[in-house]
Amino acid sequence: MTLKFRTFGMFLFLILGYLIFYTNYEKINIDLYEVKFDNLENNNKISKQIIKLSNTSLDKNKNANIKTNNSLYKNIIIEVKKNQTFSSILNEHIESNKLKYEIIDKVNKIFDLRRLKVGQKINFFKNNKNKVEKIILYLDYETNLNVNVNINKSITVDKEILKKSIEKNSKEYVITDSLYLDGIKNLVPSDILIKLIRLFSFDLDFQRDIKKNTIVSVSYDEIYIEGRDNLIFGDINYALIEIGKNSLEYFKFKTDDEYIDYFNREGKNVKKSILKTPIDGARLSSTYGMRKHPILGYNKMHRGIDFAAPTGTPIYAGGNGVIEFAGRNGSYGNYIRIRHNNEYKTAYAHLNGFNKGISKGVRVNQGQVIGFVGSTGRSTGPHLHYEIIYQNEQINPLTLKLPSGKILKGKELERFQKEYKIIYASHLNTLYE
Ligand SMILES: [Zn+2]
Repeated sequence: MTLKFRTFGMFLFLILGYLIFYTNYEKINIDLYEVKFDNLENNNKISKQIIKLSNTSLDKNKNANIKTNNSLYKNIIIEVKKNQTFSSILNEHIESNKLKYEIIDKVNKIFDLRRLKVGQKINFFKNNKNKVEKIILYLDYETNLNVNVNINKSITVDKEILKKSIEKNSKEYVITDSLYLDGIKNLVPSDILIKLIRLFSFDLDFQRDIKKNTIVSVSYDEIYIEGRDNLIFGDINYALIEIGKNSLEYFKFKTDDEYIDYFNREGKNVKKSILKTPIDGARLSSTYGMRKHPILGYNKMHRGIDFAAPTGTPIYAGGNGVIEFAGRNGSYGNYIRIRHNNEYKTAYAHLNGFNKGISKGVRVNQGQVIGFVGSTGRSTGPHLHYEIIYQNEQINPLTLKLPSGKILKGKELERFQKEYKIIYASHLNTLYE
């Protein structure tokens, strides 16, 4: 299957999708939602989902009275506002300046209060005499800073990593509209959909390749943090996109060198690296960086690398992608630019000519001949000027750490094959249980 992607459109709709999602998110984040849905394939009822979409649903406990240690506590959760300091927040809850400064001092030893962020939550527990007995600062999604104010006014401060439990969840749906929007409709978390799109972005052109009735199947981690009301979505464990008879399938795997990456059943990495040398038998004639320009004579940043080669030497596409530009381009002469994904592009300059069929909008595969070495534009002799563009800026191809395109072998492959079968069985089990 030769599938690629064109991500600009996707990027727009992603942002749109985000907006739509967050608009809805705001509306529903007050309560826990119990969601029942039908499996799209066989109408088996899957109704185990309790989706706690809320980060902020803790707020519904605001001012709630809770019973702890046999005495009635008042629980007040505040969110840090702009220009608010911990000290100014304490002012509202603690009368004694001495106590206040002692708390600040002790907290500062563990957590630099200058790092307090807007929106960060602080939970005050007050006793029936309206005195603060405990303060919890939510440091991050899984860490609390506990301040205990004892009756004799001794203060203890400690950091607590909250217990978490990870559960695997699975979803499967058919695309009628788009991968993202149908995912949202089928209650796949937005975080997971974004990861899914990223995962397949080396293989798929989301605008062209996704057809109606494309099946998406995904397994991912849900992380429950004890004492918090929100749910965190972790890694994708398994993902399948099935378009007609073609399917792309990836499994999460921690490699021997401790990288979490995704591989298909054959143990091939999801990522396809961009070629650092898109030409055979050429001599590297000029590297990336400051140099005295051979024609202009003054020092100029060279934003690519040059390969000297005889006129007519074939030039290969550095990676799968879509031709974004093919034609005359000022001092670049005959020039091709390929868009590989949202982040990466490659450019080829001073070509003698273009290969047959190479024009704007055409999709090319890595290694495919796109043009031939020449000396058009501002050039002193036949060479290829090659650029790798990352987020619209040229970067040094020689020092760039590109996605590996690793293929698992030997013991590592054996380990992967054992693990992917477990992941797959667990995915099916969750889908159809
Ligand atoms: Zn150059």
